Amino acid sequence: MDRRFADIIIDITHEKLDRTFQYIIPDELLDTVKIGSVVSVPFGRGNKETKGYVINITDKPEFDVNKTKSILRIDVGSDNSQTKLIELAAFIKQTYGGTMSQALRCVLPVKTKTKPIESIILKLSISEEDAKALIFESERKNAKARARFLRELIDVKEIPQNIVLQKLNIGRQTINKLVEMGVVEKIVISSYRNPVSGDVSKYDVVLNDEQRQVVDAIDKSERKVHLVHGVTGSGKTEVYIELIDRVIKEGGEAIVLIPEIALTYQTVMRFRRKFNDLVSIINSKLSQGEKYDQFERAKNGEVKIIIGPRSALFTPFKNLKLIIIDEEHERTYKSEQVPKYHARDVAIKRAELEGAKVVLGSATPSIESYYHALGGEFVLHELSNRANGATLSDVSIVDMRDELKSGNKLMFSRKLLSLMEDRLSKKEQTMIFINRRGYASFVSCRSCGFVYKCPHCDVALKYHTNGKLICHYCGYETATSKICPECGSKYIKTFGTGTQRVEGEINKLFPNAKTLRMDFDTTRKKGDYEKILSAFANGEADILIGTQMIVKGHDFANVTLVGIIAADLSLYAQDFRASETTFELLTQAAGRAGRGSKKGEVVIQTYDPDNYSITLSKKQDYKAFYNQEIAYRKLLKYPPIYNMAVILITGEDEDVVFNNAKLIFDYLDGRKGDSELFGPTWANIKMLNDNYRCLIYLKDENVDNLSEMNDILERYVEDKDIKNINIQYDLIPMSGY
Ligand code: ADP
Ligand code: ZN
Ligand code: ZN
Repeated sequence: MDRRFADIIIDITHEKLDRTFQYIIPDELLDTVKIGSVVSVPFGRGNKETKGYVINITDKPEFDVNKTKSILRIDVGSDNSQTKLIELAAFIKQTYGGTMSQALRCVLPVKTKTKPIESIILKLSISEEDAKALIFESERKNAKARARFLRELIDVKEIPQNIVLQKLNIGRQTINKLVEMGVVEKIVISSYRNPVSGDVSKYDVVLNDEQRQVVDAIDKSERKVHLVHGVTGSGKTEVYIELIDRVIKEGGEAIVLIPEIALTYQTVMRFRRKFNDLVSIINSKLSQGEKYDQFERAKNGEVKIIIGPRSALFTPFKNLKLIIIDEEHERTYKSEQVPKYHARDVAIKRAELEGAKVVLGSATPSIESYYHALGGEFVLHELSNRANGATLSDVSIVDMRDELKSGNKLMFSRKLLSLMEDRLSKKEQTMIFINRRGYASFVSCRSCGFVYKCPHCDVALKYHTNGKLICHYCGYETATSKICPECGSKYIKTFGTGTQRVEGEINKLFPNAKTLRMDFDTTRKKGDYEKILSAFANGEADILIGTQMIVKGHDFANVTLVGIIAADLSLYAQDFRASETTFELLTQAAGRAGRGSKKGEVVIQTYDPDNYSITLSKKQDYKAFYNQEIAYRKLLKYPPIYNMAVILITGEDEDVVFNNAKLIFDYLDGRKGDSELFGPTWANIKMLNDNYRCLIYLKDENVDNLSEMNDILERYVEDKDIKNINIQYDLIPMSGY
């Protein structure tokens, strides 16, 4: 029989061992060792038995077969779900670049095994008779605690140890002595931490016709990937819940991805009301141990539904049947660390490996997904009405240049002011949304024009409420001074952050209104975010002022007015997705108004009232927006029509970085096939963390050609043994560099 060999990664925790080692697959394991198997192999000089991951199988030996060692056995813990996750890692490495270890660490993220919580139950293991005799003897010897403990045990038979220690005030020594004597037995019950708790009231939503049709269509379909385009408030969450319910009833499991910022108590409770303890969550606030526990609970079947951001995608379910991606347009689904994968694409791959379905949902689908839906790759479903009978809000656009011309220098238009006043008098709530990127809050000298910049990054420092200047890229902090460090003038001007200024003006204009502010400064501590949202939900404030954070999927019934200050500013970001982002933000923000029984109104203030992303968000006409946007992408050869990749070359020496970028460019240019190459050019932010940043752009209609370019790049880097610079490949650039 032909020999077969396995390429194995030994240890994903050591960057140094980031390469494969080849082993012979022994005959008896030929049928069982697969890509993704976890195996034990002899490793190193002492042939120490070590765990490894099979990532490739081949019949071509790498070197002398007589010196190649054999796999010892397949690891017992190597279950089906793990095998598929390792296969998924191979896909991630292949598609997005980076090393196999990085890909493995991403799909098998929790490596520090922590102990589950253990509770100890103490039980009497002798007869009552004997126990009573012992009590008598103990009292005679004046061992009061022991006697008290034994009496309690005779009474209740079993007591948790912590109660004995804390409530009965009996010491560990007393307990242990009795255990030693064989009088008391310790029973250890281990349980995994459950981060989700809370009241479980009954679940009572009955789907409307539109929702039911979508659920049935997805459920019955043979097709794997579905896009639900549903207006804000159309009840997409209820659609997900019903789909999950059907999957669970057939013994399957489900993953629900939602943006971290939307993963609030409110959302989790909606799932919990239906599924109770079968639901758990993953989020960045959980400790490593808690995260590990959730994956263990998923693996052992205790939990059937995991809700969480990107990383929840790698939950090791054994029978995964459904992956839902809510707010699928969100940029946070793209990882900005190597491997720079997009959760949507990886979800589709995982679903393919597991035989599961993927359901994408959004009121403003990404241009990519809608394109695939129209092209027939995904199945499109529409929800065009608000579920609880509420109507969509009336949206008006105010041209702020006209306001200025007619003498209004405030940051609020007259229209917005009069509506705010009206809402205050009716005791209804208002949300004011500020595009943070638009409101620069840097500090500058009015005399010489000096701007405080980060010494490590090519960006202006941002002014914060605590009086500090902070770099939003590297975290560098410094204090502001009263005089200009450049010219010594006193005219150093510090602006508050955008949200602060808005709050200040509102407090001046409406001194009796209660305001809440939600931004970077007010949400730095764990729990801050939830506190502000629940205070607003409870009616503790009339007006909520905030950045992007306030537009994500929150449901406040009493909000009937949304004001959007300076809507167009994100249009100027140097990024081909700028219009998409603006349309998305405006539509989502507008979607916050009028979700209850009262109709909502939205005022969009802008200096650019004719821009299509603004006029079409007024009409809340996604399809018209899509048509304009896709024409622009076609014209300029941008995704999704063309695939695009960015090579980021960074290093501490400006010349070394640029020269290397030039060499890489020329090398690739000679091997590019049909791909188009642009660059090298300096990034928008030329320096970050003391590193210069240079870019090469690649475009190709066929995504496989771009993956191939990455292979070529990797080989080049290996051959040349490049030092002092770092090279990253990004297949799906989501934001400007
Ligand atoms: P989306 O996620 O599409 O924005 P939600 O699922 O949050 O919408 O639903 C919006 C509101 O409508 C929620 O308050 C929800 O409880 C309510 N809702 C959803 N479906 C129904 C239904 N079939 N009947 C009554 N109310 C519903
Ligand atoms: Zn100055
Ligand atoms: Zn910095």
